[in-house]
Amino acid sequence: MKDCLFCKIIAGEIPSSKVYEDKDFYAFLDIRPIHPGHTLIIPKKHCNDLMDFPKANESNIMEVLKKVGKAVLSATGADGFNLGMNNGKASGQEVMHAHFHIIPRFKEDKLGTWPRKKYEEGQMEEMQKRISDKV
Ligand code: 5GP
Ligand code: ZN
Repeated sequence: MKDCLFCKIIAGEIPSSKVYEDKDFYAFLDIRPIHPGHTLIIPKKHCNDLMDFPKANESNIMEVLKKVGKAVLSATGADGFNLGMNNGKASGQEVMHAHFHIIPRFKEDKLGTWPRKKYEEGQMEEMQKRISDKV
């Protein structure tokens, strides 16, 4: 898609540190890593986010995530990794070409995890109903 940063990266118009490519996916290092080795995996066919993800690529994305995730673990010596995907500006999505983050994590990296809340009385049941009614 014209004017899309990641489409330009796939086309080679903007340089990137590629770590994997097949006919449907492209994986490269994030330019501003949370830890070195932070990798982005993108479908070659432009789409904005998960809801828009190409149907034809749905079945093989898991294989690619596992393959690249395993390689990142092994290459960085990380103890684990976060698999992340921002969907929509409110979530922190900056580039509107769907992408998965593989973020290497280390036992003592002190990055922590998401802050958690408690449900108010009855709120969890209400939320369960509201979501399940929409699925
Ligand atoms: P988002 O916030 O949309 O989930 O993630 C977009 C990611 O793309 C960010 O982590 C950012 O560092 C990365 N990024 C932005 N521009 C470039 C670029 O030109 N090259 C590379 N390799 N990564 C980029
Ligand atoms: Zn794109």
